[in-house]
Amino acid sequence: MQTISCPYCSSEDLVKNGHSENDTQRWRCNKCRKSFQLNYRYNARKQGVKDQITELTLNSSGVRDISRILKINRNTVMSE
Ligand SMILES: [Zn+2]
Repeated sequence: MQTISCPYCSSEDLVKNGHSENDTQRWRCNKCRKSFQLNYRYNARKQGVKDQITELTLNSSGVRDISRILKINRNTVMSE
């Protein structure tokens, strides 16, 4: 588990504050009360996604289908 700290005051006293439009976890700092988002979604989901992309590609799914099914960015599919 990665330690997340506030980019403004470096406090680790954070609370989850919902999600942004692109499903990125938002956080709010209990110390300075600012909210921010860190893009950890990609890293958290990286394991296994590669295998699924390979599998779907073998099933002749297009990049567009794969990105929709796995709910990941099309560029991520392309790079894999
Ligand atoms: Zn802070």
